[in-house]
Amino acid sequence: MAIQTINPATGAVLKTFDPLSADEIDAKIARAAETFTSYRRTTFAERAGLLRAAADLLDAERRDIAVTMTTEMGKTLASAEAEAAKCAKGLRFYAEHAEAFLADEPLDDPAAVGASRAFARYQPLGVVLAVMPWNFPLWQVTRFAAPALMAGNVGLLKHASNVPQCALYLGDLFARAGFPEGAFQTLLISARQVEAVLRDPRVAAAAVTGSEPAGQSVASICGDEIKKTVLELGGSDPFVVMPSADLERAATVAVTARCQNNGQSCIAAKRFIVHEDAYAEFARLFTEKMAALTVGDPMAAGTDVGPIATEQGRVDLEELLADAVAKGATVLCGGKSQEGPGWFFPPTVVADVTDAMRLHLEEAFGPLATLYRVPDLDAALEIANATTFGLGSNAWTNDPAEQDRFANELVAGAVFINGMTTSYPELPFGGVKRSGYGRELGAVGIREFCNQKSVWVG
Ligand code: NAP
Repeated sequence: MAIQTINPATGAVLKTFDPLSADEIDAKIARAAETFTSYRRTTFAERAGLLRAAADLLDAERRDIAVTMTTEMGKTLASAEAEAAKCAKGLRFYAEHAEAFLADEPLDDPAAVGASRAFARYQPLGVVLAVMPWNFPLWQVTRFAAPALMAGNVGLLKHASNVPQCALYLGDLFARAGFPEGAFQTLLISARQVEAVLRDPRVAAAAVTGSEPAGQSVASICGDEIKKTVLELGGSDPFVVMPSADLERAATVAVTARCQNNGQSCIAAKRFIVHEDAYAEFARLFTEKMAALTVGDPMAAGTDVGPIATEQGRVDLEELLADAVAKGATVLCGGKSQEGPGWFFPPTVVADVTDAMRLHLEEAFGPLATLYRVPDLDAALEIANATTFGLGSNAWTNDPAEQDRFANELVAGAVFINGMTTSYPELPFGGVKRSGYGRELGAVGIREFCNQKSVWVG
């Protein structure tokens, strides 16, 4: 894939970048490794000051970087600005909390292990490669970078090939904030060039946010090299609606949960599983609200849904939909790609989905929702869990016993009851099954790229 800015709203190629040569990559890894030897000794207060400076720059430049995001991947300008604001907040969160998250953890009873004192200490691993996707071009990187840098690691960023200007901005942001040269560098490289970086002995670990094939490739290379990985991969989150739910509110949130970021979010609700007593009303409300969204120029203030980020992304959606329709699915709204320039795909609701359809199992990365009717909670759980993924999940019910069952029995990295799955700096984020392993964010996330060292003092 060429490293290019292509405006998905028009299809125009705006800028092409040359990938780094092997020598240039080597120089950047050398700089990272050299920087780590001193950066790891900086204090939490020093790192926090740098992270806060990055947050201040980001706040000041919010509008400009939002325009770049929208131009490169098509999210609405309002959502791009909100993403930049969320990143500044995330940077400040780690500036404030990292020291406490990584404080020594003393053993209550050191005598039990024959010590006068014993504790766990969290220390940085070294140079970490982050392989990142385009869908939240700033946030995905920030939620890796903020904890990694606060822990004393240094980062190399291989961003998606369609967001090179966002990638360059991020490297530049941390440099201008005052981080030492080499603490966080962008590598403009192709996916094929990732293996050499992973096999370099100066690189200690890798984080991947992206598709299953990307995760499989990085994890197998790192497995071969015995290097730590955290994988944040795809999702096909269920959104279960029970009769006791506030259906109007559930339908409103369902639309946002499916269509935010033009439907291209790993934690978007993708499968809507509705109890038969609520089905007719929920289906009506949901379909009406989906059909009422404004699709168009992502720079325009009134737009709800912009284009799909890549031409292939839209083809994938069209193929999933065609397969379902050919096998008997019913399209309740949308379903027909917009003619003309740009890769627009309308909010679409599909009912009568069966397990013979690809849409039943595969991730629809765009504003394409499937509706299921179920007789009871057990049937809802069965469909909800009948996926190879396990990232987020949503359940709508005001019955405490049902809330408890969903919290216990949805097989996913997160369960949101009467709300939309969202990533918060305060909460661990990640998946199970083919959605990956390891966690980002929260206290758990910052420890992933640490050596959890046991210290025993006699
Ligand atoms: P993608 O094609 O896997 O790309 C993600 C990143 O991986 C890009 O930087 C890409 O580089 C790189 N990459 C692709 N194949 C690779 C390989 N074989 N070896 C090394 N690097 C490789 O995914 P995407 O289409 O950008 O993103 C959509 C997917 O990401 C969806 O499945 C979505 O659910 C998932 N996602 C998950 C999370 C999460 O937190 N769990 C968050 C966001 C997105 P190139 O661009 O150069 O190919």
